[in-house]
Amino acid sequence: TATAPTDSSGTDVRLTAISKRYGSFTAVHPLDLAIPGGSFFALLGASGCGKTTTLRMIAGLEDPTAGTVELGGEDVTGLPPHKRPVNTVFQNYALFPHLDIYENVAFGLRRRGIKSVKKQVGDMLDLVQLGDFARRKPQQLSGGQQQRVAVARALINHPQVLLLDEPLGALDLKLRRQMQLELKRIQTEVGITFVHVTHDQEEAMTMADTVAVMNGGRVEQLGAPADLYEMPRTTFVANFLGTSNLITADVLDTTGADILLRAGDTKLALPATRCTATARAGEKLLVGIRPEKITLTHADDAADVPEGRNRVPGRITQSSFIGVSTQYQVDSPAGCLSVYEQNIERDSRLTPGAEVLLHWNPGHSFGLDAAQSVE
Ligand code: ATP
Repeated sequence: TATAPTDSSGTDVRLTAISKRYGSFTAVHPLDLAIPGGSFFALLGASGCGKTTTLRMIAGLEDPTAGTVELGGEDVTGLPPHKRPVNTVFQNYALFPHLDIYENVAFGLRRRGIKSVKKQVGDMLDLVQLGDFARRKPQQLSGGQQQRVAVARALINHPQVLLLDEPLGALDLKLRRQMQLELKRIQTEVGITFVHVTHDQEEAMTMADTVAVMNGGRVEQLGAPADLYEMPRTTFVANFLGTSNLITADVLDTTGADILLRAGDTKLALPATRCTATARAGEKLLVGIRPEKITLTHADDAADVPEGRNRVPGRITQSSFIGVSTQYQVDSPAGCLSVYEQNIERDSRLTPGAEVLLHWNPGHSFGLDAAQSVE
């Protein structure tokens, strides 16, 4: 029931062949998802990809066209929202403007007829670090503080799963970064399952244990943030999470531990274990490499580059200093490549026109099916 006490190990969420159609339009294609209890799970994707619809089907705010929703092993597909052990925090907070913070947080308890709310409300305000603000009205708080009230108000009902629909969307960038760490802390402290919808890849990567990247009503890839980043399986994921150089290369040989390729007149190696596509000699493959994994060496010093690295000659076309890194665009036989370098002394930054060697550890690249459109 909605008032079940918090299960410290959290509750599993299982979606089986769940889908949503609006007339002839399919917002969510049949989707299977198993979210482990107590984890922080993010649904990540661009506007319109179906992430909110998926969340609303878990909440019971939207009926699936087909498929089932299970919470803690119990089929809740037909249950209305208030009969599910979940609570939702929305982007607009929906706080009661005429009630102070204390009463906003106490609301769920009072509605259930609970008289002595003091300890629970106090604990909840402490959890979100708003103990000193109990008697203020919502409009006397900053956006981030209001957001924390909304979280406290949802958590006081002891949901087993907290659903968050772009809860930080209205905050400015700096505050959003702070609140991401804050929400992660709260989730770790209460130990329940959080399912968080966002279009912000950095947000998903900062907070979530597992991220599902959605595109066009489907999950393109699911995994730990670092695994998605290091080993994207589609061009969409390769460019939605950060930036990737995608080099179209001809496959020469697939018989060894390394796949051997050619891009322009340059030979490349890619460990077979780093390739999720089927590589066939004579066909094409996309070789992905992150801009920060490429090193630039001045062409005059090319002899210093260690053996075993992929090497591509190039010429700098653009150089921009953006504080944490210097970002270069480099023309090469493998196409125009982006390179990010950190800790470069001002005087040793390369300037447009410089002849360079780009080189990287083959184990840092990844192989993708070349039949995909590059997004
Ligand atoms: P956003 O970040 O913009 O909210 P989203 O990924 O959460 O996007 P959804 O809200 O899940 O996307 O919507 C998925 C698709 O379903 C969109 O193309 C949307 O226009 C469509 N859609 C959503 N609700 C309805 C509805 N009630 N009737 C018709 N189409 C709908």
